[in-house]
Amino acid sequence: MIRRWSVQEEYEAIAPEIEAAVKEVFSSGRLILGPHVASFEEKFSRYCGSAFGVGVSSGTDAIFLALKSLGIGPGDEVVTVSYTAVATISAIRLAGATPVFVDIDEETYGMEVSQVESACTTRTKALLPVHLYGQAVDLDPLLNLARSRGLAVIEDCAHSHGCTYRGKRTGTWGTIGAFSFYPTKVLGAYGDAGICVTDSEELDQRLRQLRQYGMTDGRLGRMEGYNTRMDEVQAAILEVKLRTLDEMIARRRQIAKRYDEALGGLLGIPAVKPYSSHSYYLYVVRHPDRDAIIAKLRERGIEVDVHFGTPIHRMEAFQFLGYREGSLPVTERVAKEVFSLPMHPFLKEEAVEGVVTALKEILS
Ligand SMILES: *Cc1c(COP(=O)(O)O)cnc(C)c1O
Repeated sequence: MIRRWSVQEEYEAIAPEIEAAVKEVFSSGRLILGPHVASFEEKFSRYCGSAFGVGVSSGTDAIFLALKSLGIGPGDEVVTVSYTAVATISAIRLAGATPVFVDIDEETYGMEVSQVESACTTRTKALLPVHLYGQAVDLDPLLNLARSRGLAVIEDCAHSHGCTYRGKRTGTWGTIGAFSFYPTKVLGAYGDAGICVTDSEELDQRLRQLRQYGMTDGRLGRMEGYNTRMDEVQAAILEVKLRTLDEMIARRRQIAKRYDEALGGLLGIPAVKPYSSHSYYLYVVRHPDRDAIIAKLRERGIEVDVHFGTPIHRMEAFQFLGYREGSLPVTERVAKEVFSLPMHPFLKEEAVEGVVTALKEILS
């Protein structure tokens, strides 16, 4: 069995460190917003190159709070993509706002930034690019458009820990960067967690208030808020894992390089643009016979998955948004042909070769 994710393998490799961190928190009696949340916020925001970081309970909540902190809600539109995890859209809906979709770029599957301007209306308040699979969206045109129209930019960085756009980390270009630490992500907790990073002290303060019942200077009732805090125990685990994040990304890149070399002539491999690095949260390939190939890989004990097989605008739950089949042609075409190969830093050499050999056999 060749796994697509590393949750078990990782734990086998670093169990003593994880258990020591958990034990220390449990015996300290500080379970909510203690020293580890504060120091992880400081370390992760420094890692990104942002002035501030606010730890929250998930990536979904990071996007939700980012929108709330900017006063975005019912009646407001947020321009984003349909080709994303449903969480991106859940967060926009949780804030009460309306997602407006643009299509994706046929090469990178990221947001087609040239369509964003014409998707903007007088109700548009924010642009929400998703740095898909670990590669940055082309941010310069978006930032220029946002500046000229007075819009916020919220970066969905759930896939892009460590990824840089023009040499500077994703999450630090827009108004707020929203990260997920869901266990399988490039940096994952042992449960749910997320963070908002920003350079604005005012937004940092507002995010801190919103994540804890709206509490302002220790007082309740001046502002409406929520409970979307990061757990102390998750912060302690994330601090341990942050130390080796760059090594883990380097290993992902090594695996991607081997896949690229071996598979480039057989199927569509990830295109990496000169403006971005790639953290390879997912290694996504493309072939018109996707479903048959997946079935054969599974027969050989190789775990594969599809990100994303049903774009949001084709999901039953989101029909009320009013997008018909054919309205986002590249999104719909790509969703039928992509699949994700095993990709994680604990994937052994033999496993990588096993995937390569299987695909060569299947596609010959
Ligand atoms: C995982 C993910 C999220 C949200 O993450 P949770 O921590 O699971 O709430 C948001 N956007 C994208 C693109 C994701 O993949």
